Amino acid sequence: MHNFLPIAYFKNQFLPFENANLSIATHALHYGTGAFGGLRGIPNPENPNQILLFRLDRHCQRLSNSARLLNFELPADKIQSIITDFVKKNQPKTSFYIRPFVYTSDLGIAPRLHNIEHDFFVYGLELGDYLSPDGVSCRISSWYRQEDRSLPLRGKISGAYITSSLAKTEAVSCGFDEAILLNSQGKVSEASGMNIFLVRNGELITPGYDQDILEGITRDSVLTIARDLGIKTIERPVDKSELFIADEVFLSGTAAKVTPVKRIETFEFSKHRPVTDKLREAVTAVTENRNETYRDWVNVIEI
Ligand code: PMP
Repeated sequence: MHNFLPIAYFKNQFLPFENANLSIATHALHYGTGAFGGLRGIPNPENPNQILLFRLDRHCQRLSNSARLLNFELPADKIQSIITDFVKKNQPKTSFYIRPFVYTSDLGIAPRLHNIEHDFFVYGLELGDYLSPDGVSCRISSWYRQEDRSLPLRGKISGAYITSSLAKTEAVSCGFDEAILLNSQGKVSEASGMNIFLVRNGELITPGYDQDILEGITRDSVLTIARDLGIKTIERPVDKSELFIADEVFLSGTAAKVTPVKRIETFEFSKHRPVTDKLREAVTAVTENRNETYRDWVNVIEI
């Protein structure tokens, strides 16, 4: 069971989390017609009266884009101001995760996105490590990442997570920690809730936006930080077998941060991971607002 933050935003107001409940007839529950965001917040290690949110504007813009794909206009600045108030009301004391959600809220049947009410809620939970920071084992999933021609992959659409769920459960039931999904072309796409990177000869490689990936905000941050550190970055299609011969592989995501991959299928990777370690440390320093260069990526909220 999770430790939920005490206050939620639901039906245009702040109220106790226990009172924020939906009807079983809610349209989005049946048709997967929701979209969500996921942000991490931490108390400022330097000042407990401040909460640090990483790249709040990017998260709000991505959710606003997702809402638009669901035929709902929800401006990014409105999401941003609700999330800021949400944090002030909850005054979190430990590392936490914010889950904003936009969805078709009607109590009616028939899949559609027109002539229907939409709504927006926000709740949060305490969240430490999502994956082991020491590294994870991965299975190449028998489930494939969806294609943009059948599902809008630029949005974080809730219905899409059936594939992630199937892949994750398949991996765990086979004794692995995580799943890596290929796309319909058989190229590497991403993990169940993270983007993927590999290192070969000191160069950082990751599948590009044309490989059916989610537009990961941690991915973007890793690429920017790596370039600033003088690491060559390449966005291009990646074959499955290229993963197996990589020097290092890691996953990136808001929940997962930078998580090393120890093994994929039967292929073990070295524990010597200079690039992964460097980037993991750099991303942590940036999220804790310890790096001057990226101060504008961190929203400081006084509580
Ligand atoms: N891919 C998928 C499918 C995800 O759910 C996530 C988590 N949001 C990511 C990648 C990583 O994205 P981000 O770095 O923005 O959290």
